[in-house]
Amino acid sequence: MTMQCDVVVIGAGMVGLALALGLRRCGLSVQVVEQMPSPDLLAADHRVSALNLASERVLRHLGVWEPIAEKQRYQQMSIWEQDSSSRLSFSAAELCLPALGYIVPNQAVMKAMYLALQDSGVVMRYGCKSARIHAHDEGVEIEFSQETLRASWLISAEGAHSRVRADFNFPTLEWDYGQSAVVATIATDLPHQACARQVFLTSGPLALLPLTEPHLCSIVWSVPSAQAHTLLALDEEAFSHRLSAATGMELGLCRLVSPRQSFALRARYARDLLRARCLLVGDAAHTIHPLAGQGVNLGLMDAAAVIEAVEQQVQQGNWNGCLDFLAPTLRWRKTEAMQMLAAMEGIKQLFAYRGPFRLVRRIGIDALQHAPIIKRQLALLATGNCGELPLMARGS
Ligand SMILES: Cc1cc2nc3c(=O)[nH]c(=O)nc-3n(C[C@H](O)[C@H](O)[C@H](O)COP(=O)(O)OP(=O)(O)OC[C@H]3O[C@@H](n4cnc5c(N)ncnc54)[C@H](O)[C@@H]3O)c2cc1C
Repeated sequence: MTMQCDVVVIGAGMVGLALALGLRRCGLSVQVVEQMPSPDLLAADHRVSALNLASERVLRHLGVWEPIAEKQRYQQMSIWEQDSSSRLSFSAAELCLPALGYIVPNQAVMKAMYLALQDSGVVMRYGCKSARIHAHDEGVEIEFSQETLRASWLISAEGAHSRVRADFNFPTLEWDYGQSAVVATIATDLPHQACARQVFLTSGPLALLPLTEPHLCSIVWSVPSAQAHTLLALDEEAFSHRLSAATGMELGLCRLVSPRQSFALRARYARDLLRARCLLVGDAAHTIHPLAGQGVNLGLMDAAAVIEAVEQQVQQGNWNGCLDFLAPTLRWRKTEAMQMLAAMEGIKQLFAYRGPFRLVRRIGIDALQHAPIIKRQLALLATGNCGELPLMARGS
């Protein structure tokens, strides 16, 4: 049996679902293919995302912001280096904003998107993996075990290990960060007070992200991969002690309250985003270190930019399935991704230096803390309120 639609999105992560919602609203017929058997399995992922204000606006525009349960706004950010009194702090009040951003469980975002897609006309195929994909000048054919799906184009939102990226030989730059991120939920003696914290340890950054309950935080602890294995092997008590010490008891004693998960960290950057009617977006196009919590924010901006470009084609009556009109949008998205990768590498290297440079770094952090103009620019960067943004991500 052969079925037909305008666009097939492979991957029902946050970026794929955002695209499906937006493209459907443009009037395209959309099918989503996800290898996981059911959206309920999302609950097993304990990751949260720090969503910036630009992402909030995109999700509002797509009608899924309000229904997201468990959003915790953070009104302060505090960054420091282990064994140092120098600290960089930002507050929403300084910027006259209600929040600097939000900490949201990934599964809560996807659930809200999934529910919004229920009556949208988008066909959701869970537990489905294509056997083969043929792409040619007129469109793509995706073969499943029982049927074939024909579409004008295919979007790979398959995440870091995109099969489409590999199968269609998208030229990709990759390097290993040599680190893994250990993720878990912890309870703390002291309340987090809506502050997102990050301490740079000699082994790598450790983030404490506030959750809706005042004594609960999600941690993202990036350490050399061998050390991640050790952290995962520790019993709960030993892990909690190690964590409390690593945070300098910033929030008092920490206690592990969820299973631990570990994610190997690797940088990736696809030099092309479109080949033979196959488009890469989100982590399929670029993966970055989670130290500044920007990966999905970048992916949602990709989604918004593509949606807007398609919307314009449709409104002008120019939509014919041909994707040449995407070229400027994709150039822009590639530049944004490259700049973000470079920024992450810069921050990572900056905090990796030891020896006398540490003193210079501490003086630099103190100087930044007392330089309101530069600090304001950094805060705007963190909130996503700067640079070129898709229309739906811009503030009023
Ligand atoms: C530890 C950690 C912490 C992070 N914290 C933050 C943060 O605070 N803020 C932030 O902005 N970003 C953060 N990120 C990055 C963020 O998680 C990713 O950028 C984001 O999840 C990417 O979304 P995506 O939809 O592109 O891909 P994914 O979330 O990886 O989704 C891909 C989907 O595609 C499916 N799939 C894959 N291959 C196939 C196939 N062949 N067929 C069918 N389905 C397929 C997968 O099952 C999956 O559901 C973090 C990342 C890590 C590792």
